[in-house]
Amino acid sequence: MSINRSISYPEERMPKYVYYFGDKKAEGDTSMKNLLGGKGANLAEMVNLGVPVPPGFTITTEVCTDYYDSGGKYPAGLEKEILDNVAKIEKELQFKFGSPDNPLLVSIRSGARVSMPGMMDTVLNLGLNDRTVEGFARKTGNERMAYDSYRRFIQMYSNVVMGIDSEHFEKLLHDKKKAKGALLDTDLEASDLKELVEDYEKLVEKKNGKSFPQDPMEQLWGAISAVFESWNNDRAVTYRKLNKISGDWGTAVNVQAMVFGNMGDDSATGVAFTRDPATGENCFFGEYLVNAQGEDVVAGIRTPHPINIAQRTDGSLESLEEVMPECYKELVEIYQKLEAHYLDMQDIEFTIQEGRLFMLQTRTGKRTGIAAIRIAVEMVAEGLIDEEEALRRIEPDQLLQLLADVFEPEKKAQAIDDGRLLARGLNAGPGAASGQVVFTAERAQEEAAKAKNVILVRYETSPEDIAGMAAAQGILTARGGMTSHAAVVARGMGKSCVAGCGALHIDYEAPAITVDDKVVKEGDWISIDGSTGEVIEGELDTIASEINRVLADGTLRPEDSQVYQEFDTLMQWADRYRRLGVRTNADTPKDAAIARSFGAEGIGLCRTEHMFFGEERIAAFREMVLADDHDGREKALLKLLPMQKEDFKAIFKAMEGFPVTIRTLDPPLHEFLPHRDKEIAELAETMSIPVNDIKRKIMSLKETNPMLGHRGCRLGIVYPEITRMQARAIIEAACELAKEGVKVMPEIMIPLVGHVNELAAQKKIVKEVADGTAEEYGVQLDCKIGTMIELPRCALTADEIAGEAQFFSFGTNDLTQTTFGLSRDDAGTFLPFYIENKILDGDPFQAIDRDGVGELMKIGVKKGRSTRPDLKIGICGEHGGEAGSIEFCHQIGLDYVSCSPRRVAIARLAAARANLKK
Ligand code: PEP
Ligand code: MG
Repeated sequence: MSINRSISYPEERMPKYVYYFGDKKAEGDTSMKNLLGGKGANLAEMVNLGVPVPPGFTITTEVCTDYYDSGGKYPAGLEKEILDNVAKIEKELQFKFGSPDNPLLVSIRSGARVSMPGMMDTVLNLGLNDRTVEGFARKTGNERMAYDSYRRFIQMYSNVVMGIDSEHFEKLLHDKKKAKGALLDTDLEASDLKELVEDYEKLVEKKNGKSFPQDPMEQLWGAISAVFESWNNDRAVTYRKLNKISGDWGTAVNVQAMVFGNMGDDSATGVAFTRDPATGENCFFGEYLVNAQGEDVVAGIRTPHPINIAQRTDGSLESLEEVMPECYKELVEIYQKLEAHYLDMQDIEFTIQEGRLFMLQTRTGKRTGIAAIRIAVEMVAEGLIDEEEALRRIEPDQLLQLLADVFEPEKKAQAIDDGRLLARGLNAGPGAASGQVVFTAERAQEEAAKAKNVILVRYETSPEDIAGMAAAQGILTARGGMTSHAAVVARGMGKSCVAGCGALHIDYEAPAITVDDKVVKEGDWISIDGSTGEVIEGELDTIASEINRVLADGTLRPEDSQVYQEFDTLMQWADRYRRLGVRTNADTPKDAAIARSFGAEGIGLCRTEHMFFGEERIAAFREMVLADDHDGREKALLKLLPMQKEDFKAIFKAMEGFPVTIRTLDPPLHEFLPHRDKEIAELAETMSIPVNDIKRKIMSLKETNPMLGHRGCRLGIVYPEITRMQARAIIEAACELAKEGVKVMPEIMIPLVGHVNELAAQKKIVKEVADGTAEEYGVQLDCKIGTMIELPRCALTADEIAGEAQFFSFGTNDLTQTTFGLSRDDAGTFLPFYIENKILDGDPFQAIDRDGVGELMKIGVKKGRSTRPDLKIGICGEHGGEAGSIEFCHQIGLDYVSCSPRRVAIARLAAARANLKK
């Protein structure tokens, strides 16, 4: 075949495109992940460690990027390197590529810098053709296996390289089984498989217009190109998007001598984890199948057996430890060696060919958030890693899995008593999920787009289903084990998953699930418990997770929860390594108390307006808004004062000993008035005001662009009595508590300041009230007065602003809005399009736009501290709870971040990781 070569390099830079591994030493090693991909680098490392690995070579990721940059061409020199390396394998194994007597067969697998399980293409058994298959049969003395391998190869190659749908081949296989009265694939004999190969070849000719390639070199180039092409297939692109992997990295291609797990009953193939990927328990955990090829285990088509006796729960499935004790022993030694070498939980693949064990892969194993914490904490205790490394290993968002709700135990027990337990499967992805059943990934996406909760139910999932899995609340499969695609992907996504639920009969046509006499149709509700494997009919209530029960509800004792104890250990380490303070945004004493139990060191933002929505308060507040003059407003405000004061007292108490930043009124006043006729009429009646007067007031407050209108400090400037009342409520609360001996640290924060004069005017009011009130109470009170930085002008003039402000807090919600000039309320109509089409990398309301908003923050910090070197600076926009933004806040020297109570733990961890980052 002709190879398209056009890139040529100057002689002084003759790049190396291919790295050999085998013969007890490899040209690469584990440090070369970027060039060799994770799989290639680890295969090389295993060879260097003396672990048995079939020889092969890795074509670098650079070839892939060159291939794309040059529009699908290969660099000069690649062909020679590939031929040389094929020759090396031939020499090492004494086989020959294409030899009719002694054929070498290879696998071709992708391998990117980070693992993208199942997203790209693989071809196995390459090198077989009409002649080599016979030599292979003679050599192995196993004609059946030879033809079985050949028919699998034709199907896989035709699908991956030529784009012929696998279904056509499956149909021919199905027909053949029917014709022969065979129940299982393994019931077909060599002669049947030989006929099947002929049928497959005819099918290829019909679909493709030319015959199946017989030249092994042509096959090899076809497969290499297909793997490179698969870097950009839809599912790989979706996976990269979901996991924030760069599209520029490219994949390496690994070409490796085949070993066969399907050579009979002394052969097997399996996958294992060096620790339990769902719970993190330190036990060897895996699955295998006798007489099978690798993909059979992960594709979930046959339900695999447990690897050892400890893992056997079902008496009918024999473990590898019992069936092949010698190989199991060797495997245990290897896994221990690999974990001790990599110092992390490994996900390994192996094949046993006629009693001989080969390792095909090792990589860092994906795990649930719960497992991640347990493994990290235990590895520190075992002396394998230190605390810093433990912190580096846990992505802050993984903590969300520990905090997620679980099914209410009593309700669940009741449902089971009522006979609603549909079936039990494997607890493949912890977490509780209730939703309406859907049977396809597309349907899952459609329904999720309508804000419905769905459970995706499949016999097994495949990489095509990835977007549907992401859209679903949970995943339920009838086949496949703990290492099936569904299980691995669900755990990676933090989704609840029950796998291998063999009792389910799924009819995709109906579509419905049947279990004995029960039928669950599309749209019916089911609940799956991915921590126990239970599948229950109907919707189930959830309750707080163990961590929340210990910290937020106090219904579980810390000593009774191992998960909590591990979490707590990790959090203590985080506190040891972080520089940033972590506060919370809380408007109620309850939220303040919860946040404090999660480690918040104060309140960074208390939005006072949220306190006005209680029934009694809203009436008084509306009276204030509707008042025509100063006196009217004062009268209404006097009613509000004691209520606000009580709120503040409760919040100060909940946060005793920590600073509490209270913001003066921020939203435009019309937000507090009703807009529908019925409600207006009701208000008119209760307030004894004519309906038309209220309507007139509403009209007068209406703004074309309320986000840029009469809000923030502009309210307190036009209506100083509002600021006065709020300041008084805060200071009276603080003084009363101070007199009781409670340690209070109030901070009053002025929102939406754009000009220093605005702040100066508000500060004057607050200060007068504060000084006067403190004097009345006879209390020495240190109340700081500061501002939010929410407008570009405020950041740009931060040196002047700092002359008036004792602290800054970046309100990055408004700062993002005003920097981009886009409304956070209306951006939803086009922002998703922007992100989809890469106009923006991501949503700037979620992660700080470092180049724009971030620059303004840097200016604000620099200028602010130029006036007041000890200026305390925090952030209280939503970004204060997002790991990447927290890292940025650390880098630019903020003192603290403030986030919602449920993200406090995440922020503590993210702050520590930011500080540990070199
Ligand atoms: C902000 O703008 O970032 C902020 C915290 O204030 P709010 O979200 O209440 O406008
Ligand atoms: Mg704001």
